Amino acid sequence: MNETAAPPHPADSDMRRDTVVRALDVSRVYELGGETTHALRSVDLDIFRGEYMAIMGPSGSGKSTLFNMIGGLDKPTAGMVFIDEVDIAALDSFELAWLRCRKIGYIFQSFNLLPMLTAMENVVMPMTFANTDPDEARDRGYDLLQKVGIGDRWSHRPGRMSGGQQQRVAIARALANEPAIVLADEPTANLDLKTGADIITMLKQLCAEIGVTVISATHDHKMLDICDRVVWIRDGAIERIELRENLDIHVGVFEEDRTNEDEGAGT
Ligand code: ADP
Ligand code: MG
Repeated sequence: MNETAAPPHPADSDMRRDTVVRALDVSRVYELGGETTHALRSVDLDIFRGEYMAIMGPSGSGKSTLFNMIGGLDKPTAGMVFIDEVDIAALDSFELAWLRCRKIGYIFQSFNLLPMLTAMENVVMPMTFANTDPDEARDRGYDLLQKVGIGDRWSHRPGRMSGGQQQRVAIARALANEPAIVLADEPTANLDLKTGADIITMLKQLCAEIGVTVISATHDHKMLDICDRVVWIRDGAIERIELRENLDIHVGVFEEDRTNEDEGAGT
Protein backbone atom coordinates (compact mmCIF):
# COMPACT_ATOMS: atom_id res chain seq x y z
CA MET A 1 0.00 0.00 0.00
CA ASN A 2 1.15 3.56 -0.70
CA GLU A 3 2.48 4.98 2.56
CA THR A 4 3.27 8.49 1.44
CA ALA A 5 -0.09 10.15 0.84
CA ALA A 6 -1.87 10.11 4.20
CA PRO A 7 -0.46 11.38 7.48
CA PRO A 8 0.23 8.94 10.30
CA HIS A 9 -2.57 7.54 12.37
CA PRO A 10 -3.54 9.74 15.31
CA ALA A 11 -3.74 7.04 17.97
CA ASP A 12 -1.61 4.00 18.69
CA SER A 13 -4.63 1.73 18.91
CA ASP A 14 -5.71 2.82 15.43
CA MET A 15 -2.34 2.00 13.91
CA ARG A 16 -3.10 -1.68 13.95
CA ARG A 17 -6.16 -1.12 11.79
CA ASP A 18 -6.33 -0.41 8.11
CA THR A 19 -7.91 2.97 7.44
CA VAL A 20 -10.03 3.05 4.29
CA VAL A 21 -11.51 6.55 4.64
CA ARG A 22 -9.95 9.48 6.47
CA ALA A 23 -11.51 12.91 6.88
CA LEU A 24 -9.07 15.50 8.14
CA ASP A 25 -10.37 18.80 9.50
CA VAL A 26 -13.20 18.80 6.97
CA SER A 27 -15.51 21.80 6.82
CA ARG A 28 -18.27 22.56 4.34
CA VAL A 29 -19.90 25.96 4.15
CA TYR A 30 -22.96 26.54 1.97
CA GLU A 31 -23.76 30.03 0.75
CA LEU A 32 -27.31 30.26 -0.46
CA GLY A 33 -29.41 33.38 -0.98
CA GLY A 34 -27.11 35.47 1.20
CA GLU A 35 -27.31 32.89 3.99
CA THR A 36 -24.26 31.02 5.25
CA THR A 37 -24.62 27.50 6.66
CA HIS A 38 -21.74 25.69 8.35
CA ALA A 39 -22.89 22.19 7.44
CA LEU A 40 -19.65 20.56 8.64
CA ARG A 41 -17.20 22.01 11.15
CA SER A 42 -13.67 20.60 11.35
CA VAL A 43 -14.62 16.94 11.15
CA ASP A 44 -11.84 14.38 11.78
CA LEU A 45 -12.80 10.78 11.17
CA ASP A 46 -11.02 7.50 10.42
CA ILE A 47 -13.08 4.63 9.06
CA PHE A 48 -11.53 1.17 9.08
CA ARG A 49 -11.61 -1.52 6.43
CA GLY A 50 -14.48 -3.95 6.85
CA GLU A 51 -16.34 -2.09 9.58
CA TYR A 52 -19.98 -0.99 9.56
CA MET A 53 -20.12 2.59 10.69
CA ALA A 54 -23.30 4.54 11.36
CA ILE A 55 -23.30 8.32 11.09
CA MET A 56 -26.09 9.21 13.44
CA GLY A 57 -27.67 12.60 14.05
CA PRO A 58 -30.90 14.59 13.77
CA SER A 59 -32.18 16.04 10.53
CA GLY A 60 -29.99 18.91 9.31
CA SER A 61 -26.97 17.85 11.41
CA GLY A 62 -24.73 17.38 8.36
CA LYS A 63 -24.96 13.62 7.69
CA SER A 64 -25.67 13.90 3.95
CA THR A 65 -22.99 16.56 3.62
CA LEU A 66 -20.45 14.22 5.19
CA PHE A 67 -21.75 11.39 3.00
CA ASN A 68 -21.17 13.55 -0.09
CA MET A 69 -17.63 14.41 1.03
CA ILE A 70 -16.66 10.81 1.75
CA GLY A 71 -18.27 9.67 -1.49
CA GLY A 72 -16.46 12.17 -3.68
CA LEU A 73 -19.79 13.71 -4.69
CA ASP A 74 -18.86 17.14 -3.33
CA LYS A 75 -15.68 18.82 -2.16
CA PRO A 76 -14.92 20.28 1.28
CA THR A 77 -14.62 24.03 1.70
CA ALA A 78 -11.58 23.23 3.87
CA GLY A 79 -9.82 20.04 4.94
CA MET A 80 -9.04 16.80 3.15
CA VAL A 81 -10.66 13.47 2.44
CA PHE A 82 -8.57 10.38 1.73
CA ILE A 83 -10.00 7.21 0.26
CA ASP A 84 -7.56 4.32 0.33
CA GLU A 85 -4.90 6.96 1.06
CA VAL A 86 -5.71 8.96 -2.05
CA ASP A 87 -6.52 12.64 -1.51
CA ILE A 88 -9.71 12.94 -3.52
CA ALA A 89 -9.33 16.70 -4.00
CA ALA A 90 -6.19 15.97 -6.01
CA LEU A 91 -8.03 13.81 -8.56
CA ASP A 92 -9.09 15.17 -11.93
CA SER A 93 -12.66 14.56 -13.05
CA PHE A 94 -11.70 11.39 -14.94
CA GLU A 95 -9.92 9.88 -11.94
CA LEU A 96 -12.77 10.88 -9.65
CA ALA A 97 -15.29 9.21 -11.95
CA TRP A 98 -13.14 6.04 -11.89
CA LEU A 99 -13.00 6.13 -8.07
CA ARG A 100 -16.75 6.60 -7.77
CA CYS A 101 -17.43 3.80 -10.21
CA ARG A 102 -14.92 1.22 -8.93
CA LYS A 103 -14.31 1.92 -5.27
CA ILE A 104 -17.66 3.12 -3.94
CA GLY A 105 -21.18 1.75 -4.07
CA TYR A 106 -24.00 4.18 -3.27
CA ILE A 107 -27.36 3.48 -1.68
CA PHE A 108 -29.93 6.24 -1.30
CA GLN A 109 -33.14 6.79 0.63
CA SER A 110 -35.21 6.94 -2.55
CA PHE A 111 -33.46 3.91 -4.14
CA ASN A 112 -32.56 5.93 -7.29
CA LEU A 113 -33.09 3.06 -9.72
CA LEU A 114 -33.60 3.89 -13.37
CA PRO A 115 -37.33 3.32 -13.94
CA MET A 116 -37.05 2.27 -17.60
CA LEU A 117 -34.54 -0.49 -16.83
CA THR A 118 -35.20 -3.93 -15.33
CA ALA A 119 -33.68 -4.98 -12.01
CA MET A 120 -30.97 -6.85 -13.92
CA GLU A 121 -30.21 -3.88 -16.20
CA ASN A 122 -29.95 -1.57 -13.20
CA VAL A 123 -27.42 -3.90 -11.57
CA VAL A 124 -25.45 -4.46 -14.78
CA MET A 125 -25.17 -0.75 -15.60
CA PRO A 126 -22.24 0.13 -13.30
CA MET A 127 -20.40 -2.95 -14.63
CA THR A 128 -20.93 -1.65 -18.17
CA PHE A 129 -19.34 1.65 -17.11
CA ALA A 130 -16.42 -0.37 -15.72
CA ASN A 131 -16.03 -2.20 -19.09
CA THR A 132 -16.89 -5.60 -17.64
CA ASP A 133 -17.46 -8.29 -20.23
CA PRO A 134 -21.29 -8.37 -20.85
CA ASP A 135 -21.66 -12.10 -20.16
CA GLU A 136 -19.67 -11.83 -16.96
CA ALA A 137 -21.70 -8.75 -15.93
CA ARG A 138 -24.93 -10.64 -16.47
CA ASP A 139 -23.73 -13.66 -14.49
CA ARG A 140 -22.56 -11.44 -11.64
CA GLY A 141 -25.79 -9.43 -11.82
CA TYR A 142 -27.86 -12.58 -11.48
CA ASP A 143 -25.67 -13.83 -8.64
CA LEU A 144 -26.07 -10.51 -6.79
CA LEU A 145 -29.84 -10.43 -7.29
CA GLN A 146 -29.97 -13.97 -5.85
CA LYS A 147 -27.87 -12.88 -2.89
CA VAL A 148 -30.21 -10.00 -2.08
CA GLY A 149 -33.15 -12.39 -2.32
CA ILE A 150 -34.86 -11.29 -5.53
CA GLY A 151 -33.30 -13.46 -8.24
CA ASP A 152 -36.78 -14.34 -9.48
CA ARG A 153 -37.56 -10.67 -10.14
CA TRP A 154 -34.57 -9.93 -12.36
CA SER A 155 -36.78 -8.90 -15.30
CA HIS A 156 -39.06 -6.54 -13.33
CA ARG A 157 -38.89 -2.78 -13.61
CA PRO A 158 -38.77 -0.72 -10.37
CA GLY A 159 -42.40 0.40 -10.79
CA ARG A 160 -43.50 -3.21 -10.30
CA MET A 161 -41.48 -3.73 -7.13
CA SER A 162 -42.09 -2.78 -3.49
CA GLY A 163 -39.80 -0.30 -1.73
CA GLY A 164 -37.97 -3.12 0.01
CA GLN A 165 -37.42 -4.96 -3.27
CA GLN A 166 -36.17 -1.78 -4.94
CA GLN A 167 -33.71 -1.21 -2.12
CA ARG A 168 -32.49 -4.81 -2.56
CA VAL A 169 -31.82 -4.06 -6.22
CA ALA A 170 -30.00 -0.89 -5.17
CA ILE A 171 -27.83 -2.94 -2.79
CA ALA A 172 -27.01 -5.41 -5.57
CA ARG A 173 -26.14 -2.47 -7.83
CA ALA A 174 -23.94 -0.91 -5.13
CA LEU A 175 -21.95 -4.17 -4.88
CA ALA A 176 -21.69 -4.74 -8.64
CA ASN A 177 -18.13 -3.47 -9.12
CA GLU A 178 -16.83 -5.06 -5.92
CA PRO A 179 -16.32 -1.70 -4.18
CA ALA A 180 -14.12 -1.11 -1.13
CA ILE A 181 -16.84 1.03 0.46
CA VAL A 182 -20.61 1.08 0.41
CA LEU A 183 -22.12 4.44 1.32
CA ALA A 184 -25.76 4.44 2.35
CA ASP A 185 -27.67 7.66 3.00
CA GLU A 186 -30.81 7.00 5.08
CA PRO A 187 -31.30 3.58 3.42
CA THR A 188 -34.30 2.68 5.59
CA ALA A 189 -36.10 6.05 5.61
CA ASN A 190 -38.67 5.07 2.97
CA LEU A 191 -39.28 1.57 4.34
CA ASP A 192 -41.51 0.25 7.09
CA LEU A 193 -39.89 -0.85 10.34
CA LYS A 194 -39.54 -4.56 9.61
CA THR A 195 -38.48 -4.15 5.98
CA GLY A 196 -35.89 -1.57 7.03
CA ALA A 197 -34.48 -3.90 9.68
CA ASP A 198 -34.38 -6.84 7.20
CA ILE A 199 -32.61 -4.71 4.61
CA ILE A 200 -29.86 -3.40 6.86
CA THR A 201 -29.30 -6.82 8.41
CA MET A 202 -28.85 -8.23 4.91
CA LEU A 203 -26.56 -5.36 3.92
CA LYS A 204 -24.44 -5.98 7.00
CA GLN A 205 -24.19 -9.74 6.33
CA LEU A 206 -23.36 -9.37 2.65
CA CYS A 207 -20.71 -6.74 3.28
CA ALA A 208 -19.17 -8.67 6.18
CA GLU A 209 -18.86 -11.77 3.95
CA ILE A 210 -16.90 -9.89 1.31
CA GLY A 211 -15.06 -7.50 3.64
CA VAL A 212 -16.68 -4.32 2.34
CA THR A 213 -16.77 -1.23 4.58
CA VAL A 214 -20.24 0.22 5.10
CA ILE A 215 -20.83 3.83 6.07
CA SER A 216 -24.46 4.59 6.67
CA ALA A 217 -25.87 8.02 7.49
CA THR A 218 -29.09 7.70 9.41
CA HIS A 219 -31.30 9.03 12.15
CA ASP A 220 -32.80 5.56 12.49
CA HIS A 221 -31.84 4.06 15.85
CA LYS A 222 -32.40 0.52 14.52
CA MET A 223 -28.97 0.95 12.96
CA LEU A 224 -27.45 0.82 16.41
CA ASP A 225 -28.16 -2.90 16.61
CA ILE A 226 -25.94 -3.81 13.71
CA CYS A 227 -23.20 -1.21 13.38
CA ASP A 228 -19.66 -1.70 14.68
CA ARG A 229 -19.21 1.98 15.55
CA VAL A 230 -21.37 5.08 15.68
CA VAL A 231 -20.37 8.65 14.96
CA TRP A 232 -22.77 11.04 16.65
CA ILE A 233 -22.97 14.28 14.73
CA ARG A 234 -24.74 17.49 15.71
CA ASP A 235 -24.70 20.93 14.09
CA GLY A 236 -21.98 19.79 11.71
CA ALA A 237 -19.55 18.62 14.37
CA ILE A 238 -18.72 15.19 15.76
CA GLU A 239 -20.05 14.87 19.29
CA ARG A 240 -18.56 11.48 19.98
CA ILE A 241 -17.58 8.18 18.40
CA GLU A 242 -18.58 4.98 20.14
CA LEU A 243 -18.02 1.27 19.74
CA ARG A 244 -21.12 -0.86 19.39
CA GLU A 245 -20.32 -2.86 22.53
CA ASN A 246 -20.27 0.32 24.61
CA LEU A 247 -23.66 1.49 23.40
CA ASP A 248 -26.07 -0.80 25.24
CA ILE A 249 -25.83 0.95 28.56
CA HIS A 250 -26.80 4.26 26.95
CA VAL A 251 -29.54 3.20 24.57
CA GLY A 252 -32.38 4.20 26.92
CA VAL A 253 -30.94 7.70 27.10
CA PHE A 254 -30.64 7.92 23.31
CA GLU A 255 -34.25 6.88 22.89
CA GLU A 256 -35.26 9.65 25.28
CA ASP A 257 -33.11 12.07 23.31
CA ARG A 258 -34.76 11.08 20.09
CA THR A 259 -38.28 11.45 21.46
CA ASN A 260 -37.44 14.98 22.55
CA GLU A 261 -35.93 15.76 19.15
CA ASP A 262 -38.88 14.38 17.23
CA GLU A 263 -41.28 16.40 19.31
CA GLY A 264 -39.19 19.56 19.30
CA ALA A 265 -38.35 21.88 16.46
CA GLY A 266 -35.22 19.88 15.53
CA THR A 267 -32.00 21.46 14.40
P1 ADP B 1 -28.72 15.80 7.25
O1 ADP B 1 -28.38 14.88 6.15
O2 ADP B 1 -28.11 15.42 8.57
O3 ADP B 1 -30.20 16.00 7.41
P2 ADP B 1 -27.51 17.86 5.58
O4 ADP B 1 -26.09 17.45 5.45
O5 ADP B 1 -28.41 17.59 4.43
O6 ADP B 1 -28.11 17.25 6.95
O7 ADP B 1 -27.58 19.42 5.87
C1 ADP B 1 -26.77 20.08 6.83
C2 ADP B 1 -27.07 21.57 6.79
O8 ADP B 1 -26.61 22.10 5.54
C3 ADP B 1 -28.54 21.93 6.88
O9 ADP B 1 -28.65 23.12 7.61
C4 ADP B 1 -28.95 22.11 5.43
O10 ADP B 1 -30.03 23.00 5.33
C5 ADP B 1 -27.69 22.69 4.82
N1 ADP B 1 -27.52 22.33 3.39
C6 ADP B 1 -27.39 21.08 2.90
N2 ADP B 1 -27.22 21.09 1.56
C7 ADP B 1 -27.26 22.40 1.21
C8 ADP B 1 -27.12 23.09 -0.05
N3 ADP B 1 -26.93 22.43 -1.19
N4 ADP B 1 -27.20 24.44 -0.04
C9 ADP B 1 -27.40 25.12 1.12
N5 ADP B 1 -27.51 24.54 2.31
C10 ADP B 1 -27.44 23.19 2.38
MG1 MG C 1 -29.60 13.76 4.94
